[in-house]
Amino acid sequence: MDKLLTLTALRRVIQLTAFVFFVYGAMIFTTFYTGDKLTQSLPALSCAYDMKGGDFCSLIPLQHQMDHRVSSIFTQGEKVLPALMGTLITLGTVAVLILILNKAFCGWLCPLGFFQDVFTMIGTKLGLTQLGSLSREAVNKIRPIKWFIFLFLVLILPLLTGIGFLGHEWGNPYCSICPSRIMTTAMGGDMSQIYISQASWGYFALSLIADLMFGLMVALALFVRQPFCRICPMLPMQTLFKKIGLLRLVKNGDSHCDSCGNCVKACPMDIYEIQDSTEHKNITHADCTLCGRCVEFCPHDGVMNLKYGPVTLLTSSKESFKKRIKIDKWWKE
Ligand code: SF4
Ligand code: SF4
Ligand code: SF4
Repeated sequence: MDKLLTLTALRRVIQLTAFVFFVYGAMIFTTFYTGDKLTQSLPALSCAYDMKGGDFCSLIPLQHQMDHRVSSIFTQGEKVLPALMGTLITLGTVAVLILILNKAFCGWLCPLGFFQDVFTMIGTKLGLTQLGSLSREAVNKIRPIKWFIFLFLVLILPLLTGIGFLGHEWGNPYCSICPSRIMTTAMGGDMSQIYISQASWGYFALSLIADLMFGLMVALALFVRQPFCRICPMLPMQTLFKKIGLLRLVKNGDSHCDSCGNCVKACPMDIYEIQDSTEHKNITHADCTLCGRCVEFCPHDGVMNLKYGPVTLLTSSKESFKKRIKIDKWWKE
């Protein structure tokens, strides 16, 4: 029984529960309409295309607001504040989520994050060679892509569409390529979101990219940890507010850290900065999903800590590190 009691095991149970809620929520709440109305203001990453979904992703309203509301500042001379009100409300709900959970939404609740984890577990069980940590250079090259996707696909292209510079297909281009749209609908038995559109060159390109991206994500997840998360546009949005989060990763880097690198090896997002930091400070990085694995796998007392406000939820220690390594071996056997 002791072997089951790890932070990662607890996280898997919560991830599975959240997956059922976000992907099949409308079944729990009887109808899509009820499920949607009960939970649509949660700024989570389940999908508005999923008719069995129990929640609403904040990226779709942001694109629609750029296309239909913010653009009216330029096309109809609408006043800035009323035109921005919807966007501010969406960002406000994201800020509240971050205040309460910070980026733990990713590590503990996101259905797409869990879906990728499951494929990595399948790849490991099939004996596929796991890539482990990506190099610093690779990580640094990949990191800006999420900002590019957020700025262009979530904000700029929908805004240009609303102003009239682009065709209708660019009104919600991120949703058009989002792997969560394909995953959540397919998991509910609806395959209609896997298609190649011939309506226009734009629709054709976006639908092709979507199918390729989903396939690539599944294939990569078999041997790379969290492949899509590295370019997910939810991370830039969460990063805007991460300083206000009550939940955070705190490193006591001026105590006993010997730069052993265990934390980075355990980190599914390959955040090298957690090893490098030598001060006592909040080290919740823009890419961190607050999964807590770096705390579980740090072998020194009190160096890595998961804190909620002033309360320490988990702290690293020699004893729990030894236990964790044994459990890891047991799971792999
Ligand atoms: S980065 Fe995106 S896909 Fe990954 S867990 Fe977070 S919200 Fe989900
Ligand atoms: S695992 Fe702990 S001791 Fe090792 S580098 Fe990371 S923070 Fe430092
Ligand atoms: S830094 Fe720690 S908490 Fe954040 S993603 Fe990496 S292992 Fe998880």
